[in-house]
Amino acid sequence: MEFVWQSGEGIAFEADCPVCADSGPHRPVLVIPGAGPGQTDWTIVQCPSCESRFSTDRRGADYTPEAHPDGPLLEFYLEQNAGIRPMLEPLGWAEAGPGRRMLEIGGGFGFASDFVQVSLGWTAKGYDPSGLAALGRSYLGLDIVLDYWTEETPLAEPFDVAYASEVIEHIPEPSGFLASVRRAVGETGVAVLTTPNGAALNPNTTPGILAPIATPGLHLTLFSAMGLERALRSTGFRHVRVEERGDTLHALASNAELPAKRQLDSQLYRNYLCQRADTPGLAPVLLSGLRYRLFKELVNAGESAAALTQFVLIADDIRRRFGLDVSRSAALRPLKDYGDAQEWLRHYPAHLAGLLYYRAILANNLEADPVAAVRYTAAAILAGRGLRLALQNAGMDDGETERLSAHAIILNLVATACAGGDTAPLLAAVERGNPATGLLIPAEARRSLRRFLRRDLRAMGHPDMLWRVGMTNIVGDEVTLLAAPLCQDFVVDKIGAWEAIATASDAAAVLDTFRAIWCMPGADTAPASIRHARKLILIRLVQLGAFQEADDLFDGWDSPDLADDEPVATALAIVAEARQR
Ligand SMILES: [Zn+2]
Repeated sequence: MEFVWQSGEGIAFEADCPVCADSGPHRPVLVIPGAGPGQTDWTIVQCPSCESRFSTDRRGADYTPEAHPDGPLLEFYLEQNAGIRPMLEPLGWAEAGPGRRMLEIGGGFGFASDFVQVSLGWTAKGYDPSGLAALGRSYLGLDIVLDYWTEETPLAEPFDVAYASEVIEHIPEPSGFLASVRRAVGETGVAVLTTPNGAALNPNTTPGILAPIATPGLHLTLFSAMGLERALRSTGFRHVRVEERGDTLHALASNAELPAKRQLDSQLYRNYLCQRADTPGLAPVLLSGLRYRLFKELVNAGESAAALTQFVLIADDIRRRFGLDVSRSAALRPLKDYGDAQEWLRHYPAHLAGLLYYRAILANNLEADPVAAVRYTAAAILAGRGLRLALQNAGMDDGETERLSAHAIILNLVATACAGGDTAPLLAAVERGNPATGLLIPAEARRSLRRFLRRDLRAMGHPDMLWRVGMTNIVGDEVTLLAAPLCQDFVVDKIGAWEAIATASDAAAVLDTFRAIWCMPGADTAPASIRHARKLILIRLVQLGAFQEADDLFDGWDSPDLADDEPVATALAIVAEARQR
């Protein structure tokens, strides 16, 4: 998918803004060539009044299963892509209790409905004509009517909550949709909406985030926070609250006072995942997705033992379903590339990148096994790359995997340094790599790699490793360099500079090495490393018989405590003896 940003000077689109009805002129901000229906160019314009973005093609898609005979990438959705936690965040204020009723509009599989029923004791009713909704009805046993919710849909009594997550951006006429939501909640109920934040549609947003926001052909209106608030108020809601949550807008609207803001209770969410995963007879792909999300939550909550237990269950399942052994880092191997998403998902679980990344965190933090962390992160990044390449071929992408890969490359380098390996070749390759190819890591993450690496090494109590970063400039292909630890005969590379000192053939070569080390960026912030380098240099000079140079250097450094180290003391004794002769 190619994003062609417009200077805002193109031909104005003659129509009223679907959000605020302003007549414009609405100038193009983005064109995605050939991505619209029938390979037409998909053009997005911006309203000068409410700053919402909207497509010039207002036809909208048909969401009935007849229009999608191939069905969705179900494994991708259930195992990884369905953001269950983000879906539930806007319901964080909701209290448990019987008798409460929620309407879920366009909920697809229906995870939010399932959550309020399982964890809050509410009853939920869904309206969604899609194939995904039919699957949710059967897999989760939900009450979903396979039809659109409209202003004409019969309503016996208003609902306590009408919830529509990532729906309104699909609707050709949002005002009619909002009126139907307003009707559903009556005078006391609360409307809960989420939708992509139109402000995130800009050239600084990474492709993994941008592609799902733009979604040509399906996303017709990308509201600004201001636009969504205005639209809700003009629908007749007296109380409206719109929050920008990064790339997403959360909106609550009601005629009654709005509930106080409250985050989703993480324990409640974990309990939901546990309860659901324990349901007998769940479809394997659904079970696998629930367990992965639980595993991730447990790692993030620091519940490491419980997390490892979940990982064992997931690894067993992956061995059975895919014949792939992820239970031990030593068993990991480079993955095969499959250009087609369906094909990729036949060979690997959709959550493989995330699973391996969170497992690497446990290896690093809990098991203090940096070599395992190197291997798990390497496999995670390569899995994420493979999945994203396949998705990109289908005009899709995955922001979560993009984000995980950027974090995983930092952890990979930190763990490599902690294992005594040389971070420089991979670091140099990733810093100079192309964001659109190779490991598919965004430009901003590549630029800030060194900064985060320093911060992490410092935080982990490894200040002496800071300066190892960037000691050599061997540039290679980032994919090959990253895959190296997954090849069977992998051994940790020796630190280049230490090797250079140990193998220098004369005193001049030793001194050159030391000058190069001292000039490295960050050397002044790494006293322990400099101390270690001095020790090696003294020893090497003495081995080469360069006693005068060794003596001069030691005097010049003015750090007599260096002699507390036994090998240094021995070297200095040899120097002293030589001078007496
Ligand atoms: Zn507008």
